[in-house]
Amino acid sequence: MGELRKSWVESANRADTDFPLNNLALGVFSVGETEPRCGVAIGSMIVDACGLEEDGLLVLAETPVLDVPFWNELMELGPEAWAAFRARMTALLAEGSEDRNRVRPHLYRQADAALYMPFLVSEYTDFYAGKHHAENVGTMFRGPENALPPNWLSIPIGYNGRASSVVVSGTPVTRPWGQLKAPDAELPEFAPCRRFDLELEMGAIVGQPSEGMVSVAQADDMIFGYVLLNDWSARDIQAWEYQPLGPFQAKATATTISPWIVMKAALEPFRTSTPARARPLLPYLREPGPMIYDIDLEVALAPEGGAQTVIARTNYREMYYSAAQQLAHHATSGCPMNVGDLLGSGTISGPTKDSRGSLLELSWGGKEPITLAGGETRSFLEDGDRLTLRGAAKGQGYRIGFGECAGKVVAAMALPDCAK
Ligand code: MN
Repeated sequence: MGELRKSWVESANRADTDFPLNNLALGVFSVGETEPRCGVAIGSMIVDACGLEEDGLLVLAETPVLDVPFWNELMELGPEAWAAFRARMTALLAEGSEDRNRVRPHLYRQADAALYMPFLVSEYTDFYAGKHHAENVGTMFRGPENALPPNWLSIPIGYNGRASSVVVSGTPVTRPWGQLKAPDAELPEFAPCRRFDLELEMGAIVGQPSEGMVSVAQADDMIFGYVLLNDWSARDIQAWEYQPLGPFQAKATATTISPWIVMKAALEPFRTSTPARARPLLPYLREPGPMIYDIDLEVALAPEGGAQTVIARTNYREMYYSAAQQLAHHATSGCPMNVGDLLGSGTISGPTKDSRGSLLELSWGGKEPITLAGGETRSFLEDGDRLTLRGAAKGQGYRIGFGECAGKVVAAMALPDCAK
């Protein structure tokens, strides 16, 4: 698990911070009237990485890398540069650093900062790689005998989503309109979604491009880091539209990510194995070693003006397929994978009722509404509900966290004239 690396930034040494020196999570921030710029979270502070580069304290390449408000240019430099970046940041921020007085003017309080998308999303693919989730959903829709589709144990199933719909934590999410058809109705109606839901996921960020196929080990080397991800889902729109080509508008409203990218290197001490295979995988998908991470995850729901209730607790290690397997599978077709591609893991549900990563599962399709701390019940999301995803890998006396991945549901817009 490793040990806490001590920093001269006092708040980074607290056992409850998401951002000890071991983490060095990457974001984009502004304070007051400043333009958004690249920053690194350290305890309750942010160190202005762009400012460090301007001052010559951080040299990543012959020309500036961090003079833009996104981290894609560091990704493009490749794994050796990623390691050099972390080594230099560690040296600058470690207890006893000789450069502390030169770094100190570049520190800002997180409490004073606005946070932005930490990277430019090239493209977005979402997977369906949680076995408990796939079994739960399949049981509801097809019965327990046919819960898993026949291909599920062989293929990391996914669909191509929309990069344009990925937003950073804090962005309000407007309830979508769509085609809905009740099971007993003959024809669909066009109405605001009535079964709006979340999906608790992790997002993997591709940091190197591919040309042709890659092995699972090569795919793992291409991954730059991870974020928390909420794949907002309109279940009633999905139920009517999904056959035969899969989700489309049900998944296109918004996908929220946490504002901090946790680099893969920070998660290395928490690497663990995916669950035992229920069916042998084809050679190109076999893992050469542990490829998933032990990261505790939770979802909290707060109604408008009400208290938060944690509605689910689970762990990333529940995933049947790792991001590296998903990326290797994605590239088999010759599909070029690019710097800044985002891969959603699929909903992360555990084996127990309180570890389910969506309201669809928690309320069992609306049949068993859950009760919140204030006594209200929920089958699906109501207007004004605020959802917060949190996650952390937990070591001895420290944690590697992601900050909050939050979003509030806003009432559907009035039907515009063009849709009447
Ligand atoms: Mn999803």
